[in-house]
Amino acid sequence: MNSTGSNIAADAFRRLHGAAPAGVWSAPGRVNLIGEHTDYNDGFVLPFAIPHRTWVAASPREDGVITLASVQDGQVEVAEPVRLAELEPGTAQGWVAYPAGVAWVLRQQGVGGGADLVVAGDVPRGAGLSSSHSLEVATALALLGLSGADPSKSDIAKWVQQAENDFVGAPTGLLDQTASLCCTDAHVLFLDVRSGRQEQVPFDAGAHGLEVLVIDTRVSHSLVESGYGERRRGCERAADVLGVASLRDAAGEEGLPDELRPLARHVITENERVLKTVELLKQERYAEIGPLLSASHASLRDDYRVSCVELDVAAEAAEKAGALGARMIGGGFGGSAIALVPRELRERVETGVAEAFAAQGFGSPRMFAAVPAAGAGRDV
Ligand code: ADP
Ligand code: MG
Repeated sequence: MNSTGSNIAADAFRRLHGAAPAGVWSAPGRVNLIGEHTDYNDGFVLPFAIPHRTWVAASPREDGVITLASVQDGQVEVAEPVRLAELEPGTAQGWVAYPAGVAWVLRQQGVGGGADLVVAGDVPRGAGLSSSHSLEVATALALLGLSGADPSKSDIAKWVQQAENDFVGAPTGLLDQTASLCCTDAHVLFLDVRSGRQEQVPFDAGAHGLEVLVIDTRVSHSLVESGYGERRRGCERAADVLGVASLRDAAGEEGLPDELRPLARHVITENERVLKTVELLKQERYAEIGPLLSASHASLRDDYRVSCVELDVAAEAAEKAGALGARMIGGGFGGSAIALVPRELRERVETGVAEAFAAQGFGSPRMFAAVPAAGAGRDV
């Protein structure tokens, strides 16, 4: 969709509201190269923005009302308008909860008023590529842009997290919105969640004859209902028992009850894998990150237990067909995997994965090669 995505949102806005929008803002989805379930443990993550984005065309309103519409495949879905003063968690259902949650948080911060918002996007939904955060971040930038406020990106990230945690009810960390806000073209973002320290690390897999293949299993996950919250609480308990602020500080699993050991083991080893990956990328030893991706998958599958059979089949089939490494990404229980693939083997890997899915009786996966794209901003 890209540059035309902005036009799609703006054209629908004109048709619905009879005038051009005051502006169009957009934000990307993301792939996390490595560092999964580490963000809410104060650890390290390494995401990049994908070219798929969500656009929000917007104009201000004076009556404290937010109107919302979303364009999908040429169809416009118009939602019930929401009144800012009446917004409370639980008052908005379905997709409206994401933009309404952002408006709710901004209002508490004393910024952002009523607005007409028209959304268009091509981030696959519920695919673990963070369409929800791309929608929330684009909405936040639109409402802030209309009000003339210019807060720091870290404030915006925190507000978006509040919207998703307290309004939508998904207990997610800081990875997704920070990635959507702060990633840049041709780089992965090395983020230390505890300190907020960021480093843009050049990432040009193509120069090394490699591609990052995204494999969307099309098994939709739900972070609200999945075991995500349970894992989070397990990590907090483990940190308590160990007497550390978070699992970021844990040196090992000693002293933990059996059921918490694997959770801690995953977080400790995953943080190490992120640091190792950054080191290898800086030394341009790209092929060597393959085994780290595979180790991450094994850890998420066996220790953290957030994989599912489709993600396991995707990772295994990709490796069998020649991928240097593969792993599930995102919260788990569905969504997408990534595979690091020599360019000349891309087709073979795609075929291998598709055949493995067919053999298991799964629906066809959606696959595309992802190159780091630009973060969120104003388009028009
Ligand atoms: P993910 O973030 O991995 O895609 P989530 O379940 O967190 O999965 O978020 C997906 C939800 O975000 C969708 O079900 C929908 O409610 C909302 N959403 C994302 N993009 C759009 C869009 N362009 N228009 C309307 N709703 C959207
Ligand atoms: Mg999401």
